[in-house]
Amino acid sequence: MLIFEYKLDGSKAQYTAIDEAIRIVQFIRNKCLRLWMDARGISKNDLQCYCAVLAKDYLFATRLNSQARQASADRAWFAISRFYDNCKNHKPGKKGYPRFQHDNRSIEYKQTGWKLEPDGKHITLTDGCGIERLRLMGNKKQHIAAFPTKQIKRVRIVHRADGYYAQFAVQAERKVEHVSTGNVVGIDVGLKVYYTDSEGSTVENPRHYRKAEKKLKRLHRAVSRKQKKSSNRKKARKHLARAYLKVQRQREDFARKTASTLISSHDLIAYEHLQIRNMVRNHHLAKSIHDAGWGTFLRWVRHYGLLHDIPVIAVPPQFTSQKCSACGAMVKKSLSVRTHICLGCGVVLDRDHNAAKNILQEALSSIRGGTGGHLETDRLAL
Ligand SMILES: [Zn+2]
Repeated sequence: MLIFEYKLDGSKAQYTAIDEAIRIVQFIRNKCLRLWMDARGISKNDLQCYCAVLAKDYLFATRLNSQARQASADRAWFAISRFYDNCKNHKPGKKGYPRFQHDNRSIEYKQTGWKLEPDGKHITLTDGCGIERLRLMGNKKQHIAAFPTKQIKRVRIVHRADGYYAQFAVQAERKVEHVSTGNVVGIDVGLKVYYTDSEGSTVENPRHYRKAEKKLKRLHRAVSRKQKKSSNRKKARKHLARAYLKVQRQREDFARKTASTLISSHDLIAYEHLQIRNMVRNHHLAKSIHDAGWGTFLRWVRHYGLLHDIPVIAVPPQFTSQKCSACGAMVKKSLSVRTHICLGCGVVLDRDHNAAKNILQEALSSIRGGTGGHLETDRLAL
């Protein structure tokens, strides 16, 4: 799937209509969830059928396109099945019992309910929500109209802090001819630097959040100073949300570019399979971890790996930092010890460099039929 995104240009009344449609989506999702909570043995199919019942009982719900209504029911099912999966896999900690949503920001249309004009610059929402014709503003290089409508599988309308957007999911395989370099690499994501590779080179941390932190703090203070429910407070909250959005976009952009560079210059990537959720629970580390956005980065690495068709291998995190990459001896060290010094073979390496070497070795031995490490074959859902 390729994703094309455009900002939407419309009138105030149209934006209000989008917000109303978004509320209908939330209403259906929550109603489905309620049904699942109240009755036993509700299946995905039952929720789909329930959509038709809802449309009969609540006239306003019929305004939303029928496929969009079903997509809303699917969202409820998504939350439910994630909860089931977590229980089945005995995930430690909270299992994520589905909750009612109050802050939905998007609608998903499938293949009906919308029409793209041949110029590729306007979209019309044809259902009863009254959104109607909107202008698409975006990168001049992306041409959504170049794809046959049949290939556009999903249109998402999203309300963000700085406006309304349309996302088109296009079924098309992007093929990239990978130019073989003969280089294989292990990477260790860290706090001090973005990552260290097994050759000892590093990519510096951009620390967008830290840089923006002062500004965010000021904006947070501004919000709390304003009277509750006042229009000034609303305005201040909008400013804050926009500042967060900017940081998020910078981080995503950095992660994507760094991952792309890494993949195009190597033939195999190995990384440590981190339980990021568990690490974030440690509050001292939390801010830096969110800042670095490792999860985002590794997702892009896997994505580009698939695109270039090169192996991206996750290895289990045991001992990667303790083991000596030269002789295999265990050299115990706490998190604050930054240098790996092996008294056995005399090797001295930066802690992360040593870990990156171990990660690569682990991945290579797993390919040769060893244990641990698994090939990332899951296709990334963007
Ligand atoms: Zn050693």
